[in-house]
Amino acid sequence: MINYLKKIIDFICYIFKFILSPPFCLYCRSYLYDYTVLCQGCSNLIKPILSIKLKNPDIDVYAISDYKDPIKPLILAKTYSDRTASISLAYLIWRYTILSKLEFDYLVPVPLHFIRESIRGYNQAEVIAKELAFLSGKTMLKCIKRIKKTKLQSRLSSVERQDNVKNVFQALDLKNIDIEGKTFVLVDDLITTGATLKNCAKALSKFKPKKIYGIVGCRVCS
Ligand SMILES: [Zn+2]
Repeated sequence: MINYLKKIIDFICYIFKFILSPPFCLYCRSYLYDYTVLCQGCSNLIKPILSIKLKNPDIDVYAISDYKDPIKPLILAKTYSDRTASISLAYLIWRYTILSKLEFDYLVPVPLHFIRESIRGYNQAEVIAKELAFLSGKTMLKCIKRIKKTKLQSRLSSVERQDNVKNVFQALDLKNIDIEGKTFVLVDDLITTGATLKNCAKALSKFKPKKIYGIVGCRVCS
C-alpha cells in the first residue's frame, strides 16, 4: 500500500516537473521526451576518446570526448556560473565513460582556490564529484586543498602550466576516516597537459593509495 502511494506521489511530482520545467536537449534545445541531457542526434555527435596514462605518479585518465561540441559548452558554462551544466556533465561522464565499471573507494574533486570558488559560487569539480557519488553510491571526499592561488591554466603555455600548479595542493589531516591504501578517482571537468591531476595525485600519496584514476568531461587533444 505504501509503495503504491509512493508511486502515485512520484508520478504527480514528475508531471509537475514536466509542466514547470520541460526537458530540452542542452545542445540543440530540441524537446526531449525524458530527462536525458542530450537528444539522440546530439548524443551521436559525441566521439569517444581513448584513455591516457600519466606517469609519476601513475594515473589512468578517462574522458567522455575531445574538447569539442556537444560537450564543450557544458564546460564553458562554468564561466557564467551555470551549476546545472556541471550536474549534466556528471550524468554524461557516468553514461559515456568506464567509471561505472571501475572499482574505487573515493571520488576526490580537484580543489579550487577559495577566492576563485567564492567568485564563481561553486567548484565545478565538486558539483560533478557529488553527482557521481550519488550515481555510484560511493563517497566524495574533499581530502586535498589548494594552498595558493594560481594563474588560470588556460592562459599558459604547456611548460608554464607545469610550474603553475607545482606544490600547490596539500593533503588534509583527516581523522576517523579509513583512507590509507584506498583507490581514489580524481574528478575535474577538463584535462589539458595533466599537470593539475598529477600534482593532486602527488598530494594524495600521503594516503599511500592503492591506485589513482582521473575522470574528466573532456580531454584537450593536441
Ligand atoms: Zn540535441
